[in-house]
Amino acid sequence: MKDIYDIVVVGAGPAGLMVAKEMAAAGQDVLLVDIKKDIPLINRSCCTMLINEPNTHGETVHIVDNNLHFEKTGFTVKYSGQFVKLVKSSRLSPGGYKLTMANEKEGVAHPYTKEVILRDLLQEAVQNGVDILTETAGIKAENINGGVKVYLRSSHSRFLKEVRCKIAFAADGVNSQITRGLKLAKQRKYFGSYRVASYFLDEVDYPYWDSWITCVGKGHTQLGRGQIYMVPKYLPNAKPGDKPILDVFCGSPIGVPSKQSLDWCLQEGPFNEWFHNAKIVHKAACVLNFYTCIMNPVEGNIVVVGDAASFIETYCQSALVYGYRAAQAALKQLDTGKGYEDYSTFWRESFEYCWPGEIEKALQGFGLHMISDEELDYIFSLTDKEEYFGYVSENTAPRVMKEAIMSHIDQIKKERPETAKTIEKHWQSSAEDIVQA
Ligand SMILES: Cc1cc2nc3c(=O)[nH]c(=O)nc-3n(C[C@H](O)[C@H](O)[C@H](O)COP(=O)(O)OP(=O)(O)OC[C@H]3O[C@@H](n4cnc5c(N)ncnc54)[C@H](O)[C@@H]3O)c2cc1C
Repeated sequence: MKDIYDIVVVGAGPAGLMVAKEMAAAGQDVLLVDIKKDIPLINRSCCTMLINEPNTHGETVHIVDNNLHFEKTGFTVKYSGQFVKLVKSSRLSPGGYKLTMANEKEGVAHPYTKEVILRDLLQEAVQNGVDILTETAGIKAENINGGVKVYLRSSHSRFLKEVRCKIAFAADGVNSQITRGLKLAKQRKYFGSYRVASYFLDEVDYPYWDSWITCVGKGHTQLGRGQIYMVPKYLPNAKPGDKPILDVFCGSPIGVPSKQSLDWCLQEGPFNEWFHNAKIVHKAACVLNFYTCIMNPVEGNIVVVGDAASFIETYCQSALVYGYRAAQAALKQLDTGKGYEDYSTFWRESFEYCWPGEIEKALQGFGLHMISDEELDYIFSLTDKEEYFGYVSENTAPRVMKEAIMSHIDQIKKERPETAKTIEKHWQSSAEDIVQA
């Protein structure tokens, strides 16, 4: 490692790898730093579904020749792995009733393999001449004399190293250490934290290989707090014709053990018979801190990209888009002295969670588990045989769910007036109420 680079990127997820490879392709001398030893190896839970709904975070992504093509921004990312086409996304009550969004033609989402896309991006970054430093944490970035000083710490040393650059990118994910030291993070509001545990399971007797399943209701977990998700996807070494595995997740508020909840769900939950012969082939976990977005993701010459600037997540696909856009803006800045604003404006205009009311709307979609299991079984029994057009999307699925449930509200008012009141009250819940519940 040298003491001076043109560019330092902290974090080698989709956002950081994209920034690093693009900046190096344009002739910049780039250092990419990650705390991990093996960059593509995934220990952090991620469903990794490609959200194919047009206009997701201002971009429409298509699978073209097995690669990811970003129609509006106009670039393609190589992907040498497999996709699963899911045509349904179902919310499942503890009694087994469903609320289903379907899209047979385009699919509701296409899970892919994060390890493969990171491997492909890393290979390009190395080919473009990026210096890679693993097992090293970015601790702090400081604007100095028209450039940036970045403090790093190797996993093998107590001492900080300093590296100087013209521009530093904070791409160190949702719990970003780098942004914590910046003034721009002071305007963020904190809602709460979540823990996720997940397993890749083989030999599962799963009836929904064409669906993303979200288990809604207290009865799915031992302590009645948290949410279970199930996503069919391929292992990193899968070949065409192989069988997908099932990635099963449990997310719970801090204080509720997510791994214990996941184990209980698999062994004793309402659908435990699907997992009697299941074999765990990989484990992952993560902590998610819920903050409002950084509205202006540039401070001096420090640029914040991907989840580091976002509420919950940008998705891998949008981390790639924001990484690409941030790199183009930084190159323009180096060239003309005016470029960052292009990126900041695109971020604010395209990332839905920057818009008023979007956080509340999305959380209402997650927050149906606040309604009692018995009421959920009743509500989903009304939607069980129906399918509503939609996609897997944090931003639009809550509206589809709301419309689906509200289309039965007259019947609910007649048959279960108290449940009707609970439902109507649910749509008024605040973000804090839902995260805490
Ligand atoms: C439960 C769950 C489900 C999800 N489902 C989906 C989905 O279906 N589809 C989808 O597209 N996305 C999904 N996501 C979101 C997706 O994982 C992120 O949006 C995406 O990975 C963001 O990319 P990023 O590069 O900004 O951050 P990350 O992928 O988090 O990468 C950050 C990198 O920085 C490194 N790092 C962290 N701190 C430091 C430090 N101090 N110094 C150096 N390196 C550091 C990390 O090791 C990591 O490599 C999900 C996330 C979760 C938690």
